[in-house]
Amino acid sequence: MNTREIDKEYVAGTYKRFPVEIVSGKGSVVCDPDGKQYIDMGSGIGVTAFGIADEQWKAAVTEQLSKVQHMSNLYYTQPCALLAKMLCEKTGMSKVFFSNSGAEANECAIKVGRKYASDKYGAGRFTVITLENSFHGRTLTTLAATGQEHYHELFQPLTPGFVSIPANKTDALEDAIEKYNPAAVMIECIQGEGGVVPLDAEYIRFVREITQKNDIIMIVDEVQTGNGRTGRLYSYMNFGIVPDVVSTAKGLGGGLPLGATLISDKCKDVLGFGDHGSTFGGNPVSCAAALSVISRLTDSFLSGVESKAALLRSLLEGAPGILSVSGMGLMLGLKTVRPAAEVVQACMENGVLCLTAKDKVRLLPALNIPMELLEKAVAVIKEALK
Ligand code: PLP
Repeated sequence: MNTREIDKEYVAGTYKRFPVEIVSGKGSVVCDPDGKQYIDMGSGIGVTAFGIADEQWKAAVTEQLSKVQHMSNLYYTQPCALLAKMLCEKTGMSKVFFSNSGAEANECAIKVGRKYASDKYGAGRFTVITLENSFHGRTLTTLAATGQEHYHELFQPLTPGFVSIPANKTDALEDAIEKYNPAAVMIECIQGEGGVVPLDAEYIRFVREITQKNDIIMIVDEVQTGNGRTGRLYSYMNFGIVPDVVSTAKGLGGGLPLGATLISDKCKDVLGFGDHGSTFGGNPVSCAAALSVISRLTDSFLSGVESKAALLRSLLEGAPGILSVSGMGLMLGLKTVRPAAEVVQACMENGVLCLTAKDKVRLLPALNIPMELLEKAVAVIKEALK
């Protein structure tokens, strides 16, 4: 049996895989077993921030790997401590809880929001308001937070205490705050899985104002938008706001599993001994990988991301077969005349790996993808639009 056959036989059938096996790669080019090359415009859904087998990232990982690959959180390890310090210094947050995925980073954020509210206001203040069309993960609690009914149907009952309201409607948020006395409001500045749909800037600022006024914890889910993806370290930084809690994962470890929940000064003492934990959270190899990723996201690197993104956007906007381009930085959604799934299929056949998000073609290339590869990929995408 080949890999595809073994996978089909033994791996739980939760993923609709493309008929492609990837065996190796370098930067933004990946290879199948026959040596066919693909330009990777998805970066493992926004994970491999510096591409495949990046030398600097690999050196950081292998150096730590040869020292200690895991220690229990009962002991101190340097990469975990240094990464928490770096994230706090770059964001102004005060504490970090490390986990292993986006869903777990959100679980922790929700726990912080609920515990802050119950510590201060008693047990009745627990509701978390999220937005329709959001996506926050696959655990039962983060599914409850996800404002898309079709993810809920098969897994009832979900964790109670979640309400989803329409995005960009200030009166809906005012009404929900009045009605539910919530502990927290949780948003993505750009709804990635929801179809690369950015929230209105004024709405994001309104969420910050009204949550601040009512002492409600504002959580920003930066799992997909974070770690340089939008041209800023975190997407909320594009809007001049500072949330109370930020969750992130995906690109943070650059390809190793790592989630982080960044906790502001206001909530920094909410979690105490025994309130939360994770065996692998803060794993030294994952943290060494993330130190290498985050230390490279300097202002000058991020302005390079922005100019690359502007060029990519200008190549795509108005192209025949493209109805609109949404998103920010190197997180773009293309509304196409031809169905997105067909465009992605045609791209794949011609050596470019793209993603979909709802009815859009989604592009999340590595942040350091060379411009000439972007241009080549765009040429293939344009051909596939026909
Ligand atoms: N939050 C957002 C915004 C996401 O896009 C995702 C995954 O796509 C998640 C949370 C869940 O992350 P993970 O799959 O690492 O649990």
